[in-house]
Amino acid sequence: MGKEENSNNEKTDERLEQYTQSENLTHRMGQIKHKIMVLSGKGGVGKSTVAVNVAVALAMNGKKVGILDTDFHGPSIPTLLNLGNARPSSDGTSILPVNFVEGIKVMSIGFLLPNQDDAVIWRGPMKMNVIKQLLSEVNWGELDYLVIDFPPGTGDEPLSVAQLIPDSDGAIIVTTPQDLSTNDVRKCINFCRQVNVPVLGVIENMSGLVCPHCGNIVDIFKKGGGETMAKQMNVPFLGSIPIEPMIVEASDMGKPFVYHYSKTAAAQSFEKAVEPILDIKEKEKPLSKNVPDVNKSDTALRIAVPVVQDRLSPHFGHCETFVFFDIDVENKKILHTESVTAPPHEPGLLPTWLHERKTDVILAGGMGQRAQGLFEEKGIRVLIGAPSDTPQSIVENYLNGSLQLGENICDH
Ligand code: ADP
Repeated sequence: MGKEENSNNEKTDERLEQYTQSENLTHRMGQIKHKIMVLSGKGGVGKSTVAVNVAVALAMNGKKVGILDTDFHGPSIPTLLNLGNARPSSDGTSILPVNFVEGIKVMSIGFLLPNQDDAVIWRGPMKMNVIKQLLSEVNWGELDYLVIDFPPGTGDEPLSVAQLIPDSDGAIIVTTPQDLSTNDVRKCINFCRQVNVPVLGVIENMSGLVCPHCGNIVDIFKKGGGETMAKQMNVPFLGSIPIEPMIVEASDMGKPFVYHYSKTAAAQSFEKAVEPILDIKEKEKPLSKNVPDVNKSDTALRIAVPVVQDRLSPHFGHCETFVFFDIDVENKKILHTESVTAPPHEPGLLPTWLHERKTDVILAGGMGQRAQGLFEEKGIRVLIGAPSDTPQSIVENYLNGSLQLGENICDH
């Protein structure tokens, strides 16, 4: 086998791998009704504490919840839930999250690091890859909410998630009364706006102190700043959580505070703060890959080739038939072939027609930019510049990495 062939094979392997990963990601995320990010401008404001207690409060309302901890440098969710020694298992094809209690599943980067004290240098693209892998390979099953905790600030981790889950429901931003005077929280809100993540609301944590003697809340810092700031920035205010010494104790013991101390003012504030989160309506799913296809394994792929007189049709829209190939991606084998007469040549018809026939990839000779965009919108990938050959050998070459893609031969 020549060098060029080898490199072509590698490229196809890489392409198929990327394709399968994106498919898995869409499938996994499609099983989760709401994805909520928890952010803060800086560390130590109680962001992870809020993430855990929001998740537990949602579960206390009968919701199936997952918690994903994306902190590479100081993952605290395992500690907060007393899961320091837990390790996720695998079912052979996916990673299974750790079951904290019935209805709450947990996945943390901390579970995957050999030793949390080891200094690991993670560069941005590596973080993005690991996060993508977590989102595509962790099998949460069906969830009502996935609560995602991040390191403080607006770095690579929230950026990656915002890009990889473009339909997230939004972010809860955690701040403290002292933090309000800094610009961090505003930066956080602006970050969400830049990456199109809706701001679900601001939680002002450590707001006033619950007196250990009388139980009343003592306002040690000026109160109401969070609400005023939220108003100024035109984002909802979800509520304030007082400083409660039992939160520290519960966290240290790995007991979710909101559940174990449900009678306290702080726990009740958490419960109130999740009310708007419980009210979020489920988004209408587009008629696309977000709807998991139960008949299709994660590794199946359907390729369509436009054909005229038994060979690839150079003019995509003028083909006589489409030949569909069902592929077993893992073994790179054609499982089934079917030839179907093409619909009439009407503008805008083919994307819907091919989407309805569950096409994942089109191997075409040439295609105009606009048509390519319409297919992308339907989640169908288009590879252009395939040679004039029989559909069977085009697909076989694609699978074995020797398909040579040339110019777009019909760009209108
Ligand atoms: P972050 O994720 O923002 O770095 P953590 O959630 O780890 O912050 O919280 C930092 C510390 O503050 C922890 O010890 C936690 O128990 C404590 N803490 C958080 N919220 C409160 C609160 N409302 N009252 C008292 N202690 C709190």
